[in-house]
Amino acid sequence: MQLPHFKYHAPRSINTLNALIEKMKGQAIIMAGGTELIPRMKMRLIQPENLISILKIKELEHIKIKKDKKIEIGATVRIDNLVNFFKENRPFNAIFQAANMVGSQQIRNMATIGGNILQNTRCKYYNRTLQWQNIMPPCHKRGGNICYAVKNSKRCFAVYQGDMAAPLIVLNGKGEFLFDKNFIQKPLEDIFTGNGAMPFNVGKGVLIKFILPQPEDGLISTYKKYRIRDGMDFPIAGVAVAIKIKNKKIDDIKICLIGVSSAPVVIKDIKDFISEKKLTDKLIHEISEIVYNQAHPVENTDGDINKRRYMIKQMTFEAIKELIDGYDK
Ligand SMILES: Cc1cc2nc3c(=O)[nH]c(=O)nc-3n(C[C@H](O)[C@H](O)[C@H](O)COP(=O)(O)OP(=O)(O)OC[C@H]3O[C@@H](n4cnc5c(N)ncnc54)[C@H](O)[C@@H]3O)c2cc1C
Ligand code: SF4
Repeated sequence: MQLPHFKYHAPRSINTLNALIEKMKGQAIIMAGGTELIPRMKMRLIQPENLISILKIKELEHIKIKKDKKIEIGATVRIDNLVNFFKENRPFNAIFQAANMVGSQQIRNMATIGGNILQNTRCKYYNRTLQWQNIMPPCHKRGGNICYAVKNSKRCFAVYQGDMAAPLIVLNGKGEFLFDKNFIQKPLEDIFTGNGAMPFNVGKGVLIKFILPQPEDGLISTYKKYRIRDGMDFPIAGVAVAIKIKNKKIDDIKICLIGVSSAPVVIKDIKDFISEKKLTDKLIHEISEIVYNQAHPVENTDGDINKRRYMIKQMTFEAIKELIDGYDK
C-alpha cells in the first residue's frame, strides 16, 4: 500500500515546532515513530497535507530522575528504552511489563511513548482499506451516522488499545502538553473523552513529556495483557494494578483496564471496598468481581467478548495475588 502525498517537516527545537504549527493553522499532524500513523495514512483513514516529525527535537527524547525523585519521560522516548529504564524497578514495574509487551521488538525500537498514548481508537469495521471503505456507508468514526458494531448506537465504540496508558494512569502520571505556546499539565486519565470517534480532548496540543510522582513507600505495581498472538498483537484486554502496602494491609489501590472500552477504564469504588479488610484470597476474588462488572467490551475487535471479560477478572486476580505474595520476598 502506498502513502498519499504530503509535505514533510522536521523541526529541531520546540520554538521551531511552535512556529510551524502557527504557520500551518492547525493543518498539520504530528508524527513520532510513525508505527501507528503511517498504517492509517496508507489505508487513507487520514490524509494530512503536512506532517511534522518531532524526532529531531532533542529536548523530547530524555528520561530523567529529578532532584525531587519525580521521573520525567520525554514524549519521543522509545518504548524499548522504557523497557531498559524500568527493568527491576519495583514500584514502577507495571511500566516495564507493559512496555515489554507493546507489539514486537521492531515496533518497540521505533515506537514512542507519546505516540503510544495518543494512538487512535481501533475497530474491525474502521481499520480497513480504502476499497472496503468505499463499499460500506460511513459509520460515526468516518463522519456518518451508523455503527456496525453496536446496532442503532448514536455513538462510536472504537476501542482504545494503548498498552502504556494503563500503567501510567495507575501510577498517577501526568502529561505536559504544548497549546499555543503554553505548557499545560493534565492527569493522563483526564485526556480521554470516552467517545471512540474523537478519543482525546487535547485537540492539536503537542505532548511534550510525562511526569511520574515520587514513588511512595510500599508502592508496587504490575500489568497483565491478553492478546491473540504473544510477541505482536494489541491488547484485547489489559489490567494495570498499583497497590500501596502499609502495616501489612492495602493502604491504597488503583486499577485501570485497557482494550475493553473507548478509553482506559479506571475502576471505581475499590478503595472504600477494601478499607480495613484482611487481605485474603476471598477478598482478591471479590475485588476481581468488582473489576469484571465494570468491563464492558463490545464486538469490534479480535476475541470473544465473554472471554475478554473473563480474562479481565482472571488477570486482576493474578496481578493482585502476585503483588501481595511477592511483597515480602
Ligand atoms: C504490528 C503492530 C503492532 C502493534 N502492537 C501494539 C501493542 O501491542 N500495544 C500498543 O499499545 N500499540 C501497538 N501498536 C501501535 C503503535 O505501534 C504503538 O502504539 C506506538 O507506541 C505508537 O508510537 P509512535 O511513536 O509510532 O506513534 P506515531 O505513529 O508517530 O503517532 C501515533 C499518533 O499519536 C500522535 N502523536 C505522536 N506523538 C505525539 C506528540 N508528542 N504530540 C501529539 N501527538 C502525537 C500522532 O499524530 C498519531 O496520531 C502496534 C502497531 C503495529 C503496526
Ligand atoms: S464502533 Fe461503530 S462507529 Fe465506531 S468505528 Fe466501529 S463501526 Fe464505526
